[in-house]
Amino acid sequence: MAFLNGLKCRECGREYPAEPLNVCDFCFGPLEVVYDYATISEVVSRDRISQGPLSIWRYADLLPVDSEEPVDIMAGYTPLIKAKNLGKRLGLNNLYLKNDSVNPSFSFKDRVVSVAATKAVEFGFDTLACASTGNLACSVAAHAARAGIRSIVFIPSDLERGKVIGAAIYGPTLVAVDGTYDEVNRLCSEIGDNYPWAFVNINMRPYYAEGSKTLGYEVAEQLGWRLPDHVVIPSASGAMFTKIWKGFNELACLGLLEGVDAISFGPDQNTAHHPAVTTRMHMTQAAGCSPIATAWQNGQTHVRPVRPNSIAKSLAIGNPADGIYALRVLEESGGSAQIVPEDRVVDGIKLLAETEGIFTETAGGVVMSGLQHLAESGAFGKDELVVVYITGNGLKTQEAVEEVVNPLSIRPTLSSFEEALQGRPLAIR
Ligand SMILES: *Cc1c(COP(=O)(O)O)cnc(C)c1O
Ligand SMILES: [Zn+2]
Repeated sequence: MAFLNGLKCRECGREYPAEPLNVCDFCFGPLEVVYDYATISEVVSRDRISQGPLSIWRYADLLPVDSEEPVDIMAGYTPLIKAKNLGKRLGLNNLYLKNDSVNPSFSFKDRVVSVAATKAVEFGFDTLACASTGNLACSVAAHAARAGIRSIVFIPSDLERGKVIGAAIYGPTLVAVDGTYDEVNRLCSEIGDNYPWAFVNINMRPYYAEGSKTLGYEVAEQLGWRLPDHVVIPSASGAMFTKIWKGFNELACLGLLEGVDAISFGPDQNTAHHPAVTTRMHMTQAAGCSPIATAWQNGQTHVRPVRPNSIAKSLAIGNPADGIYALRVLEESGGSAQIVPEDRVVDGIKLLAETEGIFTETAGGVVMSGLQHLAESGAFGKDELVVVYITGNGLKTQEAVEEVVNPLSIRPTLSSFEEALQGRPLAIR
């Protein structure tokens, strides 16, 4: 491993060593990792990947780590499912679901945290920390447990119980802050200046964010080293959205896709675009917190921060760190950004559950309703290959759907059963 050259500012291009840093000292731009792609291209191959572990670590050559032993709870290698029933409902013959709700801590955050935790251990940190909208807290606490180090996680105090318990069980120091995620994040930046901790989404962010590229690699591998025509993604900070695009382009530039010739990455690796990558990137956000989608729809190149008020708490970032880069990906890929009405989020959760037997969380409700709107407005050809990313698990946001599930309550007798059944015909598909 060790194909990492260092860090580079995305705005002014200044270079930094591979250390726990995330902001440029000169222009305050975000830092990103720089790879030695020339060496990677000599080593990496489809064969080598397919012989790797059944986790994100099969793509280790393309991740910013040196250690041979990652902090691994088997994140990734999740199912890509052909959605026949939902596809029929939406008039799509090639609709697929990337079911990342079945990761070890039940969201895609295990991908990013596995990379960040591995890097934190490499740097010699003894404490893993984060500011979280919920799923990150669960994943950080789980990976710290696996690594045998301490964790301290900061969450907004209004989070769903499933996320609080789903983090607390791993034994972190759990701090509920009376404020929004953006306030929690600001506090954590200040804490990070005073305590020698690895904040996965602050000082470890350049490494952490790279973990999301595996969502792109895996879908390509599962499709036989081909890319979808469209992907539909739920966004908060916009990081995952930009990294899936980066992952697709890396595969193309390295010549790993079927029928695609390798090309050089050019001077700015992070904006490399291989002309064979024609996937359209569709972003979805909930109306109660849609700063990136709003900027896109208004034709702005900058994102104006908002104060979130959304049922989709895992997406409730009012000041998204990767907002402007996500806008560039929308532009470059010919994609779109959907603003999903709050009252359609639960409909989206139900639609997925009732058609495909997958129970997703509120972020999944957002992406499902966004998908439905795109399909109904003719954004896809009926035979085009569409992949929807289902990023989190419904058992963590049960309060969102409590009112739409109503079991029959009966006494243990046949007559009581038949009485209850009257006027409630069995659901027909
Ligand atoms: C964090 C999260 C997202 C958004 O990720 P970003 O990279 O911040 O855009 C989407 N879905 C779920 C379930 C999440 O927890
Ligand atoms: Zn800079």
